[in-house]
Amino acid sequence: MTKENRSPDLKSGKGAKDYSKYFDFSGAKVIAEEEGKTTFRIKGRTIQVNSQPDYREGKRRGKEEIEVHYDFAIPEDMRTFGEGKLYSITTYGCQMNEHDTETMKGLLEQMGYRSTEDRNQADIILLNTCAIRENAEDKVFGELGHLKHLKTEKPGLLLGVCGCMSQEEGVVNRIMAKHGFVDMIFGTHNLHRLPALIKEAVFSKELVVEVWSKEGDIIENLPKKREGMRAWVNIMYGCDKFCTYCIVPFTRGKERSRRPEDVIAELRELARQGFKEVTLLGQNVNAYGKDFTDLDYTFGDLMDDLRKIDIPRIRFMTSHPRDFDDKLVQVLGKGGNLMESIHLPVQSGSNAILKRMSRKYSRETYLELVRKLKATVKDVVLSTDIIVGFPGETEQQFEETMSLVREVGFDMAYTFIYSPREGTPAASMEDNVPAEVKSERLRRLNELLSEQSRAGNDRMMGRTVEILVEGESKNNANVLSGRTRSNKLVHFEGQKELIGTFVHVKITDTKTWYIKGEYVAETAAAL
Ligand code: SAM
Ligand code: SF4
Repeated sequence: MTKENRSPDLKSGKGAKDYSKYFDFSGAKVIAEEEGKTTFRIKGRTIQVNSQPDYREGKRRGKEEIEVHYDFAIPEDMRTFGEGKLYSITTYGCQMNEHDTETMKGLLEQMGYRSTEDRNQADIILLNTCAIRENAEDKVFGELGHLKHLKTEKPGLLLGVCGCMSQEEGVVNRIMAKHGFVDMIFGTHNLHRLPALIKEAVFSKELVVEVWSKEGDIIENLPKKREGMRAWVNIMYGCDKFCTYCIVPFTRGKERSRRPEDVIAELRELARQGFKEVTLLGQNVNAYGKDFTDLDYTFGDLMDDLRKIDIPRIRFMTSHPRDFDDKLVQVLGKGGNLMESIHLPVQSGSNAILKRMSRKYSRETYLELVRKLKATVKDVVLSTDIIVGFPGETEQQFEETMSLVREVGFDMAYTFIYSPREGTPAASMEDNVPAEVKSERLRRLNELLSEQSRAGNDRMMGRTVEILVEGESKNNANVLSGRTRSNKLVHFEGQKELIGTFVHVKITDTKTWYIKGEYVAETAAAL
């Protein structure tokens, strides 16, 4: 049995983790072991474990080369399996998960499945989960509670849990023990195995668990179902930064970059298909290319090559400040189709906290990078991520975050209360900031950010800006909404035919989180 295929020691709770800590597996019985797969019987349900998550394995950063495969195909006997059947996927968390969902939709549609908004009609329901904070996980367990009823009414329904939560040991064991009605648990490294897993779950009638701890190779030609005029493109997978609070290096594996020629070919194809905007994705896009052994090619080089492709807007996320080099600053300064909105997570303004987070930059180096960006990228608009209430954060240290937010003048930030994630170094630090103090700090921070967002919007009054029209406003069908180059949301009255096009809008009113404007029929020559 290979390490990846190791089965859990359910009975004794021995191994990398004490499973008995979670639940009582005393009733679990091994009924078969073959070809690296172990079949258990737990509480009347048969569970086939192909491989299960292992944090120690997930943390290892081996030197073995990642292979790139270009020959993926749906197994022949599954190509029409989904004909006449419907699927529903619920996605939690970040853009990376949204993009994984596009891949799963692509796989299901190649098998003949069609999508449905109505879960009651679905033959297969997948929950693509997020593990970044505890409340994201709570939502999924709540959802499983609802789905149990549906499964009871419709036993033929196939239920799957995938995404980052599936990469966690404790979660997989909790599902096996408490939510035995789930049919499939698979992780982030083996999405391409979806057709094979469906087959195993349907024909064996067992709960199939297949979560790879070691990341898989890169599979280039997986189908994707993209909608609208904006596309996500992965340029790399995984993260090697190991910030002390973060679960991602465990759930997404080691950093591995797609070959530049494959990324360039994908963008060319998207341009050919008429996509108007592409967002390049990676947990730390600035580390792009560091894993190439045969190429000296960085994220700056990639952006310099991509800006020559006929895609009107290119964005990227997320940047780690530590790897943001001068070459990239200089390439972004060329503008054109490279947008001037940059998401640059800072997490804290205190050097002591940054050190305990293991972010590997200081307040001063972050501010120096901001200075360079402001000097080089015309009209740059910066946004960030901030965690409040990290273990040991003092009032003074929190105030340093507030002062950094003022100094940079962020227009927008995703703000979070620290949530301990099992298995991460911060989870064993003393979490001595009372919950009410954390909430109060979050409130003060968000208040400051609202003021800054409003001030940033006010500065745009009277200007005429180019926006990409994305659709109708959520609250009023007569109003269209779109985004500026700097990613600000703009509402204006206009004909539906404008959706998917670039138009010019004169800003006439500003709010905290959006702007109102008037459609300018004649394209302004100079903005
Ligand atoms: N790779 C990105 C980076 O380095 O900034 C971030 C990816 S993570 C999906 C998005 C954000 O979630 C982080 O920037 C951080 O602010 C937040 N986050 C991650 N772990 C967290 C935790 N344990 N508690 C609270 N927020 C967390
Ligand atoms: Fe998590 Fe981002 Fe740090 Fe990686 S760089 S460990 S994804 S916060």
